[in-house]
Amino acid sequence: MDIRRIGVVGAGQMGNGIAHVAALAGWPVQVQDVSASALEKARSTIEGNLARQVKKATITAEVAAATVERIGFSTELAAFDGCDLIIEAATENVTLKHKIFEGLSRSFGEHAILATNTSSISITAIAAKTARPDRVIGMHFMNPVPLMALVEIIRGLQTSDETWATVDAAAKKMGKTTVLASKDMPGFIVNRVLMPYINEAVWALYEGIGTAEAIDTGMKLGTNVPMGPLTLADFIGLDTCLAILEVLRDGMGGDSKYRPCPLLTKYVEAGWLGKKAGRGFYNYQG
Ligand code: NAD
Repeated sequence: MDIRRIGVVGAGQMGNGIAHVAALAGWPVQVQDVSASALEKARSTIEGNLARQVKKATITAEVAAATVERIGFSTELAAFDGCDLIIEAATENVTLKHKIFEGLSRSFGEHAILATNTSSISITAIAAKTARPDRVIGMHFMNPVPLMALVEIIRGLQTSDETWATVDAAAKKMGKTTVLASKDMPGFIVNRVLMPYINEAVWALYEGIGTAEAIDTGMKLGTNVPMGPLTLADFIGLDTCLAILEVLRDGMGGDSKYRPCPLLTKYVEAGWLGKKAGRGFYNYQG
């Protein structure tokens, strides 16, 4: 299937990055969010990130300007008219995603492939909310999208071979390497492995085994990862980490292995959601 125009639902950390790489690959892109301020922030983030690429000489100023030109921003779903691929990157919440896909299916489902950037939620159940479940797929980008090489692709039970091939080719055109999660299980591959690790780091902090700095430095230098687990959690968003752990716990029959640390829940209750909120395990203000 030929993709001529791409829509992105949600203009947060992930939505702006997906719009960036899709427009840089040459597609006209329409971004939609319920929040006008999120759209405004997304526009300036994309412009800032493209300017950084120009400074590093990975793209020219002309390419950056043309990329910005290709992206439209709207609070209206109607802006997706003519999109062949719509990638949903709204908040990690099952009820919300089901509602969004019901709406997308009603208006665009006959023609467009509907992909979700969910970190953990069942693709099969999301697809079942639509009239064309064969055209629904998981397209899991990593954060920050312009820098991270991977897109994890997840087939729901109903996803067709054509949908998979089209989305796989689109991700590759965006310069990404793809891996396929062969089974639509909670957290797929990446978050099934990552989230228990992050949660264990929060438990270590909660139990006073080390400070946040000690835990992060220990894991960074001790296991040769680019950043420690608590910094990574702050970058992902603590609300997103908590939501993923809850999906893992509930989807794996209540297995206590996935029980979110109470400290993580407390931080989310406090609104300390990580870098995007200015405070998480670390302070980002200023
Ligand atoms: P975020 O909090 O930065 O942004 C979410 C955006 O969704 C907000 O701008 C919000 O206004 C918008 N939104 C909420 N309801 C909406 C609706 N009904 N219609 C349109 N927009 C709506 O979150 P994020 O980090 O960008 O995560 C988005 C999705 O990407 C989640 O499913 C998350 O699990 C997934 N994801 C996140 C990461 C990460 O590292 N943060 C990595 C991979 C995947």
